[in-house]
Amino acid sequence: MKYEAVIGLEVHAEMQTESKMFCGCPVVDATTAEPNTAVCPVCCGMPGVLPVVNQKAVEYALRVALALDCEIAHTSIFARKNYFYPDLPKGYQISQYEYPLAQFGKLTIETSAGERTINITRVHMEEDTGKLTHITPPEGDPYSLVDLNRAGVSLLEIVSEPEMHSAEEAVSYGTSLRDIVRALGVNSGDMEKGVIRFEANVSIRPVGSDVLGTRVEIKNLNTFRGMERAIQYEIERQSAILDQGGLIQQETLGWDETRGETYSQRSKEEAHDYRYFPEPDLPPLVVETTWIDEIRASLPELPRARYLRFMKEYDLSVADAKQISADPVTAAYYEQAVRDGKNLSPKTIANWMTGPLFAWLNSSGERITEIKVNPEMLVGLLEAIEVGKINQPTAKTVLEVMLKTGQHPTDIIREQGLEQVSDQSQITEMVAQVLRDHPTQLEAYLAGKETLSNWFFGQVMRAAQGKANPQLLRQELQRQLKTASD
Ligand code: ADP
Ligand code: MG
Ligand code: ZN
Repeated sequence: MKYEAVIGLEVHAEMQTESKMFCGCPVVDATTAEPNTAVCPVCCGMPGVLPVVNQKAVEYALRVALALDCEIAHTSIFARKNYFYPDLPKGYQISQYEYPLAQFGKLTIETSAGERTINITRVHMEEDTGKLTHITPPEGDPYSLVDLNRAGVSLLEIVSEPEMHSAEEAVSYGTSLRDIVRALGVNSGDMEKGVIRFEANVSIRPVGSDVLGTRVEIKNLNTFRGMERAIQYEIERQSAILDQGGLIQQETLGWDETRGETYSQRSKEEAHDYRYFPEPDLPPLVVETTWIDEIRASLPELPRARYLRFMKEYDLSVADAKQISADPVTAAYYEQAVRDGKNLSPKTIANWMTGPLFAWLNSSGERITEIKVNPEMLVGLLEAIEVGKINQPTAKTVLEVMLKTGQHPTDIIREQGLEQVSDQSQITEMVAQVLRDHPTQLEAYLAGKETLSNWFFGQVMRAAQGKANPQLLRQELQRQLKTASD
């Protein structure tokens, strides 16, 4: 039978507030901080303590909710979600349930089939749990360590409607959302650090049916590539089960990246298992309309709007516009370069960024904020090409030196004598010399082997140590070859 996949995503994003959601403990980098150093009686769940809502967290949550076109609830209510797990010291998590901060949002995504708008069910605030590390020593019993640095960190949960129908759509939704929270300064978007986490709910149904099938929930998707593979794997697994007349179990699955398989973690709990009830230690959360309006007015340009603007204003390709506009820092670097490089085409600048500059970022692991080449220096380099001072291949070499040393392009070009040879008499002589040195090849060329002209070009360029002006060289070579054949 033919099936249609149905996918809904739940996204948890830690908010980059200085302190935690309900106490004054600092938010620290979970991957580097000493365990249990950013804790207090509130986030450790000691008896008798009281939570206080972090206003900055509410502001951040509102930023995201507004960027996703949600309806904001004037009054929302915190709720206790009860469950027992060693990383949850209180035995319940403060979350929002029946009356979340925001609902009915939407997010427009790009796919290979065009754009689509996905509805967002809700955006609510909650607190993060601690982190468990399971240890299996060579001898003795296995044990677990708990780090409560993360316990109580403010978390945003963003839930989509079950409206996506392919792994591609889910990944596009995921990346768009990640780019938005990053653009808003709410979350760094570092999936590998676990500060933003994605869970995919996946079911299938016969094509044409509008009844939802039984879903599974896939956890620990740490990369978008992993998300794509996991969803694809689930669609195939579920299709095979239904084809054989079997039934899908509602369960929570993990994703094993190395084996490329999902595996069962536990049977899925239902909402009533959590015994939700309103949090008695916190009053209802009231957000004033004036505050909402202020935040709405202060929202920065969002990645999609910027992406559309870049394509229009700078005439960039879809791929270039996407890469350059995705994060605000890269976009700002680009626009600074465009402003500085008045004589350069914005397209040229984009090519140098998505090409050599991004290649450097990938290989060095540096961020664009850390590199030694600022927009003005990149522009200096590209202007040197523009005025014919250096050619493209030389410019690539110069850029590498710039990235390594932070030296200015003009200094590198002067010190290393890289200036392009555009002197006509010098080029004429170099071409003549190469033709004299290779009589056999010249004969072959004259006998009809025309591809040899490229070979001659390469020889002259080599003799010129790569510095010959390529246009002049090409012209001069054609001229001398023509003379020789007359
Ligand atoms: P829970 O906490 O039980 O997972 P949530 O409401 O937080 O419930 O999230 C449910 C998610 O699962 C939503 O993203 C929703 O779109 C998605 N979903 C619900 N039913 C299905 C289904 N049959 N197939 C795929 N996704 C579904
Ligand atoms: Mg869920
Ligand atoms: Zn604390």
